[in-house]
Amino acid sequence: MSFPAKVRIREVAPRDGFQSIEHCLPTPTKLKIIETIAKSGIRDIEVTSFVSPKAVPQLSDGAELVGMVPRQGLVLSALVANVVGAKNALTAGVDELVVVISATEEHNRANLRRSIGESVSGLDEIFSVAREKGVRVNGAIAVSFGCPYQGEVSETEVFRLAEAYASRGATRVIMADTTGMAIPPQVAEMVLRFQTAFPDVELGLHLHNNRGTAMTNLYVGLLSGVCTFDTALGGIGGCPYVPRAAGNLATEDVVYMLEQLGVETGIDLMTTIRAARVLEKILGYQLPGQVMKSGPRDPKSAAALIGSGPCSR
Ligand code: ZN
Repeated sequence: MSFPAKVRIREVAPRDGFQSIEHCLPTPTKLKIIETIAKSGIRDIEVTSFVSPKAVPQLSDGAELVGMVPRQGLVLSALVANVVGAKNALTAGVDELVVVISATEEHNRANLRRSIGESVSGLDEIFSVAREKGVRVNGAIAVSFGCPYQGEVSETEVFRLAEAYASRGATRVIMADTTGMAIPPQVAEMVLRFQTAFPDVELGLHLHNNRGTAMTNLYVGLLSGVCTFDTALGGIGGCPYVPRAAGNLATEDVVYMLEQLGVETGIDLMTTIRAARVLEKILGYQLPGQVMKSGPRDPKSAAALIGSGPCSR
C-alpha cells in the first residue's frame, strides 16, 4: 500500500460547520475559533460563504469576519454560488473562491434556487472577476455521490461539471459527498475516472459522515492518490438542504489517522484536539469527533489532555 507523502487539509468548520448551527455565533467567537484552528498549523481555511443572508443568516457577517482574521500565511477561502457572491468575497479580500454547483437539479434548486444550467452559465463571469484579482477558484460539486432528493446521481453530470470547472482554469475540483451516501468502491471509481479525464487538475474530497462511511471513503481516496481533503474541527457541519444532515469528517480524527499512516499534514494533533475541545465548550454540546474524546495514542499525552480514569469496557 502506498499513500501520498503529504496531504492538504482544508478546514471547513467555520463555513460548513457554523452554517449548520441553529443560532448565529457572534463574529468575535468565530474569530477566536479560527485563530485557535490556525495555531494547529492548518493553512487552508474555508472561513465563510457569500450567499443570501436570508438563506444562511449564520454566515451573514462574512465580509467583517474575513477582514478580522490575521493572515499569517493562511489561505482564506469562501464559498460562493454566483457572481454577486464572488464579487463580495473578492472585495472582502479572500485568497480563494469555492464555487458550488450541485450534480442534480433538485439539490441545486433547493440549495441555490436556480437550475444547473443557470449556475454553469454564471461561471465565466465568476472566473473572470477572480482572475482580474489574481484569486484562485475551486470548483465544488455538491451531491457528487448521492442526492437526498433524487437518490442516484448521474456520473455524466458530475463529470460535465468537472469539465466546466477544469476548462475555465479551476485550481482544483472538489467532489462533495454532501449526503454521506458515498461508498468506498464508488469513491475509488470516481477518483480514477477523474484522474484519467483531468490528469493536471487537483482533486479534493469533501466527505460527510451521515452513514459512517466517511473515514473509509477518505482512506480509499488516499490510496487512490487524492492529496486534498476537506474536514471540520470536532466533526461539525451539514448542508441546510440535506434532511438529517450529519457532520464532516473531524479534522482531529483525520490528522490522527494520517499521522499514524506516516502521511505529513503540517498539522499538530495535540493542538487540533485542544481546539476541538475549545469548540465543544463554546457550542455547549457534545461534538461527533472521536479523537477529541479518546486522545492520542501515547497514554501520557492522552491523560494530560483528556484526564485519566478507569477504562470503560
Ligand atoms: Zn459539506
